[in-house]
Amino acid sequence: MQSLDNVKGIGPKSLQLLSHLNIYTMEDLLGYYPYRFEILEKSNLKEMNQDDKVIVDGIIESIPNVYFFSKKLNKMSFRFSTENTLLNVTIFNRAFFKSHLQVGTKVTILGKYDKKHGTVVASEIRLGLLPPIPVIEPVYHTTSGISSTQLHKWILSCLDDIQSVEEYVPKYLCERYKLLDKKSSIKEVHNPKNKSSLNQALNYIKYEELFLFMMKMNCLKKTRNQEIGIERKISKEELESFISTLPFSLTEDQLKCVSIIREEMNKPMVMKRLIQGDVGSGKTIVAIIALYINYKSGYQGAFMAPTEILALQHYQNLLKLYKNTSIKVELLTGKMKAKERKEILQKLSRKEVDIIVGTHSLFSEDVIYDSLGLVITDEQHRFGVAQRARLKEKGHHADVLYLSATPIPRTYAITLYGDMDVSSIHTKPTGRKEVITELYKEKDVKIVLDKIQKEIREGHQVYVIAAQIEESEEDNLENVTKLKDKFEKALGKICKVGMLHGKMKAEEKDAVMSLFQRNEIQILISTTVIEVGIDVANATMMVIFDSYRFGLSQLHQLRGRVGRGDSQSYCILISDREVERLKVMTSTSDGFKISEEDFRLRGSGDLFGTRQSGDMNFGLADIKRDYTILLRAKEDSLEVLNSKEYQDGKYFPLREMIEKSIDLD
Ligand code: ADP
Ligand code: MG
Repeated sequence: MQSLDNVKGIGPKSLQLLSHLNIYTMEDLLGYYPYRFEILEKSNLKEMNQDDKVIVDGIIESIPNVYFFSKKLNKMSFRFSTENTLLNVTIFNRAFFKSHLQVGTKVTILGKYDKKHGTVVASEIRLGLLPPIPVIEPVYHTTSGISSTQLHKWILSCLDDIQSVEEYVPKYLCERYKLLDKKSSIKEVHNPKNKSSLNQALNYIKYEELFLFMMKMNCLKKTRNQEIGIERKISKEELESFISTLPFSLTEDQLKCVSIIREEMNKPMVMKRLIQGDVGSGKTIVAIIALYINYKSGYQGAFMAPTEILALQHYQNLLKLYKNTSIKVELLTGKMKAKERKEILQKLSRKEVDIIVGTHSLFSEDVIYDSLGLVITDEQHRFGVAQRARLKEKGHHADVLYLSATPIPRTYAITLYGDMDVSSIHTKPTGRKEVITELYKEKDVKIVLDKIQKEIREGHQVYVIAAQIEESEEDNLENVTKLKDKFEKALGKICKVGMLHGKMKAEEKDAVMSLFQRNEIQILISTTVIEVGIDVANATMMVIFDSYRFGLSQLHQLRGRVGRGDSQSYCILISDREVERLKVMTSTSDGFKISEEDFRLRGSGDLFGTRQSGDMNFGLADIKRDYTILLRAKEDSLEVLNSKEYQDGKYFPLREMIEKSIDLD
């Protein structure tokens, strides 16, 4: 690691600013890649269309004229000639630059071309003409106080100091794909010579990122396949006799999951399986059966939920379904008094508790298991790597079952969850009515209100979602509060309106949620905090304002909050924008199809939500756009992992870094 202190121009203040971008060392700085490239190439105005982005250079022909709208807002205009064309140039809020712009000054203008009026609205004016050959400029994401140009300068001054860099990709693979070497690639990306060499450099870096990612995944999987786990001996008949006590018969997909889980748990290897399926597809019951298998073979189980409310829900569910057994289930919550908690923990360590339900606090330091054999984690994408690792420490060879209601298309799942086995539940339990989804324009809000009123009068409850706006919690609060007032005015006479938002404390949220669960609130206005697993069967309508702000998968998750009881349920999307995209929601309720569409339209980011842990943050690669590289990287990583050379330590830096990063014990 080389410190940044010696880099020209970086002082204490800059160091502080750079830390906001998570840049602490020279390696960090060089690994901070541009997110796009500006190609400074003279535009041929004749070929340009109305509103195209253009770059032109030439001479200022008139004294710039400045008009102030207010102290800070101003507009500057001048005439400008490029080649044989005369243009009017306008730029906003650059009055301070006027003194540099005299008649006859040579400048380069970047902006939007209004062909009809012979005008360019400039976003940038630079002194001097364009260089004769096109220049490619990297553009970096910045933070306030640092400009992209500044960042670029610092990076350039480091480039010459690059000492050796670790080449992780085995040489023969670089040769196979004719990739540049790593050092040249880094230099090229920050200081591109031309398009083709830039592309070559980008290819190396993306390939390396994806290759290392797949190496880790495959390595995890391989080690796990060799990891000795608990060998259980539960027969099919034994399990079936438990299943027959359940209040319903299992769907075909549920049966398939149960059967493979039993087989795996019976094998002497560690199980790590993901069950993905839509909200309401019945994943929980599969988990409950797995916990039963685990109990029957003499081990304790832990059921980890992302929130306390969900933990409580699961707890109640377990009590209900195990009521004909002697399984002892306990709930561990944050609200518990110290004494109560101590008691439960004691029982747990003495094996007087068979199954414990709670949030990630189940893996706090003071929680000691006697014989943890199976861990269920609900909505696994909400738990980061660190928590998953801690979980492992608690039980030496515990099996793990992840439940996820974020369906991912099969091809992607295989790659992304490369270190797990995946089962999918496609069909919902029968007898469920499909949620009817309708799309309305904002002007039709009155119709929506009537529909809400109708549901309320029938004794049902309604969720109303106010889209989250930007980053500011204040704005969100305002948005939710306004909606609440409106609904109180419109429907306050016939029902109670409650609200949930990100600024509330956990206990406050829980309190509101329980009111809603007990039907003491009929309309719940909320930001997306209710997204996860809440189960209120009496809620039959989900209304989502500004629906366009959500990804399809997210909308699908929200929609899954209703349609849980016997009554017909509705999902109402209100939006004036992106109507075509939103129409997908009205035509299908298959979460796998929706996620495929989401993936196609918006890339991988939304599938995992912004809360996704750092596992998948690539500097340059994008698993959607660079999917073919990912597939290649997947094959290659397997080839390397299984090669004699790798085993013999020939690819030393690679092996060391992989093993370190997945923390093999
Ligand atoms: P998920 O966890 O996948 O969102 P749940 O397991 O909570 O879904 O199941 C949703 C509801 O459907 C629960 O009330 C559950 O009791 C019920 N359920 C699950 N499986 C079946 C089935 N095979 N037949 C009827 N109802 C079922
Ligand atoms: Mg096993």
